Amino acid sequence: MRSFLKKYGGGILLLLLAVLFLSLPAGYENEAFAKGAFLTAFVSSIAWTILAFYLMRDYRVMKVLFFTVIFILFALETAVYLRFGSRVDANIITLLMQTDWAETREFIAAYLLNWKTLCTFLCIIGVYCLLIHVIKKIHIKCLIQSKLYRALSLPVLIIGLALPYLSIPTTMGKNPIVGICDAIQFVRNSHDDVDQFVSMIDKIEIYSDSCKHQSPTIVLVIGESFNKHRSSLYGYALPTNPLLSKEKNLVLFTQAKTPVCYTSGAMRYIFSLKSCDLGGADSAQYVLFPAVFRKASFKVAYFDNQYTRSRGGEADYGCSYFFSPKYINDHCFDLRNETLEEFDGDFISTYKSQFLKNGASLNLIHLKGQHFQAMRRYPLDFAYFTVGDIQRNDLDDSEKQRMVEYDNATRYNDYVMRMILDEFRNDDAVVIYFSDHGENIFDGKGHRYGRNIGELSDEESAYNVRQIPFMIWCSDTFIHHRPEMYHAIRQASELPVCIDDVAYLLFDLGYIDFNYHQPERSLVNSQYHPHRTAME
Ligand SMILES: [Zn+2]
Repeated sequence: MRSFLKKYGGGILLLLLAVLFLSLPAGYENEAFAKGAFLTAFVSSIAWTILAFYLMRDYRVMKVLFFTVIFILFALETAVYLRFGSRVDANIITLLMQTDWAETREFIAAYLLNWKTLCTFLCIIGVYCLLIHVIKKIHIKCLIQSKLYRALSLPVLIIGLALPYLSIPTTMGKNPIVGICDAIQFVRNSHDDVDQFVSMIDKIEIYSDSCKHQSPTIVLVIGESFNKHRSSLYGYALPTNPLLSKEKNLVLFTQAKTPVCYTSGAMRYIFSLKSCDLGGADSAQYVLFPAVFRKASFKVAYFDNQYTRSRGGEADYGCSYFFSPKYINDHCFDLRNETLEEFDGDFISTYKSQFLKNGASLNLIHLKGQHFQAMRRYPLDFAYFTVGDIQRNDLDDSEKQRMVEYDNATRYNDYVMRMILDEFRNDDAVVIYFSDHGENIFDGKGHRYGRNIGELSDEESAYNVRQIPFMIWCSDTFIHHRPEMYHAIRQASELPVCIDDVAYLLFDLGYIDFNYHQPERSLVNSQYHPHRTAME
């Protein structure tokens, strides 16, 4: 053993060090994806390192160069994570690209020119010098020429390099080299899209006589992964929505659907005028509705507990890339959150004092809802249901446990929604709530849990994932001032609704008319004509 360590110990140490530098940043992903991302990145990083060791042999320059590159990338990813809570992803690159010299100077003065940062920087340089000193002394020749290393190399290389191309039920973690290259590619690919979003902002023309001074406070709450059939509002046996069930001004929509089963796709349909039943040819698909509200003199605030302009992680950047560019951000929002909370209730408590309430204002709230893993979506004292509540003989205990966790998350979401309604109860306000998509919770014959993108054309998923809860709540003052609007909302409750039409509903609720409005897509409009929800 001792002779084995003496011969190969140094080489194994270097291998492990390189693998950790390459794979640890994958663990900086958003908490929902962190574990899977780290594990997959760890396996593929072993393959990368094996390959790198074969290429550099014992050449000192090559070793120093390789470890310098991966150490710098590791340090960069770690610094960005500590500052922004995110990896070096497309959002961070977009932010960097749009930072001008004045902002850079401000950033340096605020974050870099202090003793703490300078000492940390010196420590990092010290660690780097020590690392290079050790690397120069350790030889890897013995290790890469050993029989065991050669025997293991091929299978590990095949598994590690093939991993990104296999369909595995977790997020594929990327090492910093692949991650940064992909992020740059994503920014490049979305460049045309972003240009279109920018140009459409300039083309929005508000018809000035359309904006009435009596516009209410509008609140749009976007939920997450809410299976409507597990809501007591929609007939589920367990009391998962006890508080909303008591709201007398709540109108439930029974036929709401979403064209997609993933958040980023849904956000694109919700926030822009992209339509699921039209091709991609119309330029209106690049109109962002918050920009319309800003142009119509509304105040707009955006509170998102899944990501911010910089926080979120790679798996989330697709949700918000169209809001990240400075020009768009400045033309869409007066106010945006910069921090996230573990639980939605804490998020609302943190930001409720910043909710806009004085009429002609729009609050956009995006919750974590019942996102997997549901057990992490509610505080322990909200664990109301137990396995004994689930009367299903076809499920084993672990399946029942996951079902219970989901129901508890739904009940906590009910509590969060009541918190939001309470904030607007005494105002002239209307609150719209719906979920971006549903979730399979062992409810069909296939015993499915979650969502598999691209495999959702079957009946079971259509029922659990495509159908969504959708509701509109009006305050007493709102109903008093606009009985005809409340009547129109109630009249539409049995009609089909698709999430890509929500923007048009908001325009009518805000009395906004403009050059891209289509009244036939607004469910409170007498011209409303429901359209087919084309599944993506
Ligand atoms: Zn989602």
